[in-house]
Amino acid sequence: MEDEQATTFLSIRHKIVFIGNPTAGKTSLLNRICNDKFLPNYDSTIGVDFFTKTVFYNETIFKLQLWDSAGQEKYKALIPSYIRGASIIFLIYDLNHHESFEAINNWLGFVNQYTNKEQVKLVLVGNKNDLERKVTTEEGKNFAKKEGMIFFETSAKTGDGVIDMFFGSFALIDFFNDKRIGNNNDEIVKDLIDQNMNPKQIQNQNPLNNNKSNNINDIISKNELIEKKQNNSNENNNNLNPNNLIKINAENHINSQKEKKKCGC
Ligand code: GDP
Ligand code: MG
Repeated sequence: MEDEQATTFLSIRHKIVFIGNPTAGKTSLLNRICNDKFLPNYDSTIGVDFFTKTVFYNETIFKLQLWDSAGQEKYKALIPSYIRGASIIFLIYDLNHHESFEAINNWLGFVNQYTNKEQVKLVLVGNKNDLERKVTTEEGKNFAKKEGMIFFETSAKTGDGVIDMFFGSFALIDFFNDKRIGNNNDEIVKDLIDQNMNPKQIQNQNPLNNNKSNNINDIISKNELIEKKQNNSNENNNNLNPNNLIKINAENHINSQKEKKKCGC
């Protein structure tokens, strides 16, 4: 019976990416979303890294890959492959640094060049709202409206606005389109928050309720476990791990830049 339930459980994967100037708070926001933690000092991200998160909604498990990036110029060559295939792109700026807000235009340039605007949801996020602000809410709101983005202000430090930002954006992906009939967006966001932030609810609704974990990140469908076992030999091949692939690309890029410098081209 449990197995039957598990096989009707739909599992969907999504790629979600975070871009923006260095120190805007991308890694901090990801840590807040995935681990509900704030660490005052991170090593600035080298190349690209990704976090995973599982989101639960009624009969569906979403496996999310949340891609972090380094904003440094030298890694910009990686941006096209990084943002390709994303369902949601979060463009992050620092409310305390006007320059990081101005830079959003450049980041948007990459997005327009390398993604199909109809297939990706763009979200503008002003982070660090616990600090003295140099960018007004109006400025952010108006820019987002002009560019067809949704807009949030957050603090990765205090957690303010982070859950609303994450689930508010997630609720806009195509999967929820037909569910919106009769349900408005706010109801979907509320359901998502209830089902993912309240451990009791998760246990009651999770069809794999023999799973003792209260942590939604640990919930995994039995189908996927089987799928994982079958793919195990592939996973052992490091080159097939997208994380490693990107790091290899980053190394290749750095090496090719060094070569270019050497030969003066
Ligand atoms: P990234 O380069 O965009 O990944 O930025 P990080 O997440 O590494 O953050 C850069 C610095 O800003 C770190 O020292 C963080 O602790 C700090 N930081 C990030 N988010 C916030 C925030 O919401 N409020 C405050 N006060 N500091 C933050
Ligand atoms: Mg970072």
